[in-house]
Amino acid sequence: MSELFSLRNPEWAERFRGLLEKLRPPRPVRIVHVCGTHEITIAQHGLRSLLPETVEVLEGPGCPVCVTSTRDLDCALRIAERGAILCTFGDMTRVPGTRMTLEEARAEGADVRVVLSAADAVEIARRNPQKPVVFFAVGFETTAPGTAAVLLDNPPDNFFVLVSHKLIPPALAALLSAPPVEIAAFLAPGHVSTVIGAGAYREIAARFRVPIVVAGFEPLDILYALALVLRQLREGRAEVENAYPRSVTEEGNLRAQELLRRVFRVGPALWRGIGEIPASGLYLREEFAAHDAQREFGVEGELGEEKPPGCRCAEVLLARAVPTDCPLYGTTCTPLTPVGPCMVGAEGACNIWYRYAGRPRL
Ligand code: SF4
Repeated sequence: MSELFSLRNPEWAERFRGLLEKLRPPRPVRIVHVCGTHEITIAQHGLRSLLPETVEVLEGPGCPVCVTSTRDLDCALRIAERGAILCTFGDMTRVPGTRMTLEEARAEGADVRVVLSAADAVEIARRNPQKPVVFFAVGFETTAPGTAAVLLDNPPDNFFVLVSHKLIPPALAALLSAPPVEIAAFLAPGHVSTVIGAGAYREIAARFRVPIVVAGFEPLDILYALALVLRQLREGRAEVENAYPRSVTEEGNLRAQELLRRVFRVGPALWRGIGEIPASGLYLREEFAAHDAQREFGVEGELGEEKPPGCRCAEVLLARAVPTDCPLYGTTCTPLTPVGPCMVGAEGACNIWYRYAGRPRL
């Protein structure tokens, strides 16, 4: 029997149900994860039905497309309207900006292309040497090394990057600093942690006295991580534990971290629906200014409309609401007619809940 299959074993899931019940907190607790893939596993496999009644698990700002600010998106729109070939990930083209989406800009004649990686955008630049090609780089520590790698690999002169990469640990600190502090613990994202290492969360766990457990993506990975969280809460501990040791180490991927350090500097970043978070964004170092799309096109975005009327994405991203709390969920707002970014992105909580029928039960 493969390891993958065993990590979906229903009998073991039932045993975890019993363990979680034994560890049931006496008062309601909110555990937040920041990973669209975690939410997909939780929703798809009905894991919420295994939790004690006093435990709630919510997705916070774990969808990179959802947290990309309208300011950055509007910059991308302006660049596309100025004749560049604008390349980005598929979901990003459907997120509403202040005036329109990138998909709508394409319908009006802009050359907007969907790519799977920064390397794809470089390839488009090589095939179109007469045109500027801009990669709109969104995502967390998982995707940023790919952007760094192409910039270090001598890209063509007509290749530019509009950087909107963000960092997860400062977002965790921001959620814990925002009153009222309701978050009892975090599940840390497996992919991001593979790059930054479990050790990257230790300062936050100690400063805010909050348990942080790194979790993998299979159903039993998540149930195991939740059991570790509840055990910490019961024992009054606030530590970092690694429940995904088959991929995540204490120090992370040092090579990827080195790529990030060589190409980017850290600065404040705007997170859609949340606002500015100090030291949570990546910016090109001066050595890569020749590939900086903002400099090349002279675009400076202003803060646009972050929240369409009636949309509760901001609260969903802050883990203060679940998708079904929004009156537009499933009526006006569906994956085919998204009102807010959380319904657009395949990793957005609203989109995931809609695809897996809200709050599934096993
Ligand atoms: S259901 Fe739609 S409108 Fe409501 S919070 Fe989610 S994305 Fe926003």
